[in-house]
Amino acid sequence: MINKVIKALRMRAYKRFMANNMQAVKTVAHYVRMLRRAVLNFFRQEMDAFEFIDEMVRTIEVQFTRAWNEGAREAGTEPKDMTDEDQLILIDRMEQEQQFILGFASDIETARMEQTPITPLYNRVELWANRYNEVRNEAIIHFRKGKLEWKLGQTEEHCTTCAALNGIVALAEEWEQSGIRPQNAPNEILECGGWQCDCSLDPTDKRKTNNALNRLLDIAAGSQL
Ligand SMILES: [Zn+2]
Ligand SMILES: [Zn+2]
Repeated sequence: MINKVIKALRMRAYKRFMANNMQAVKTVAHYVRMLRRAVLNFFRQEMDAFEFIDEMVRTIEVQFTRAWNEGAREAGTEPKDMTDEDQLILIDRMEQEQQFILGFASDIETARMEQTPITPLYNRVELWANRYNEVRNEAIIHFRKGKLEWKLGQTEEHCTTCAALNGIVALAEEWEQSGIRPQNAPNEILECGGWQCDCSLDPTDKRKTNNALNRLLDIAAGSQL
C-alpha cells in the first residue's frame, strides 16, 4: 500500500516536472559542461552545498529524461505514448543516480579545504555524463524488443570484450539474458569495466548472428577472449 502511494507521488512529481520542463539541452558534451560548471561554482563557494545538490538533482532529471526519450524515439516510441511503468523505470534510474550526489559534494568540499586540484573532480564528471549513453541504451533495449547490434563507440582503445562483441546481432531478450550491456560501470563482464565504454546497442534490420545467444554467453563467461 505504502509502496503504491510512494509510486503515485513520484508519478505526480514526474508529470509536473515533464509539464514544466525543459530547456533544450542536447548532448553528452552539454551534460559535461553543466556538471563542470556546478562543480566549479561549488568548489569556489559561489554556490553552497544546498544549491549544488539542488542543481545536480535537476541536471540529472533533465538529462536522464532526455536520454530516455531519445532512446525511446530511436526505438519507435514517442514519449507521449509511454506508460506509467515505462516512466517508473526512468524515475528509479534517476533516484539511483541521485544517491551518489552527497558523496560527490563532500569530496568537492574536502578538495577545497585541503586545497587539492580540481582536475580529478572533472574526471569524475566525465563518468557521470557517460550515464547519458547508458540511459539512452537502456531505453532502446526497453522499447525495442527486436534485434540489436553492438557498435563500438568512439573510445580510442577498445577492450577485448567490446571488440569481440562488435557487430554481433541478437534479440534484445538475448542481450538481456546474457547480462551483457554497454557502460554500466562497474561492469564485470566488460574488460574495460564499462567506465569509458562508448559502445551502443543499436536497433538493426541485419541478419541475426548465428548461434547468437551461445556466443554472448561464451563472451560473458570470458571463454572466447
Ligand atoms: Zn570495453
Ligand atoms: Zn565499449
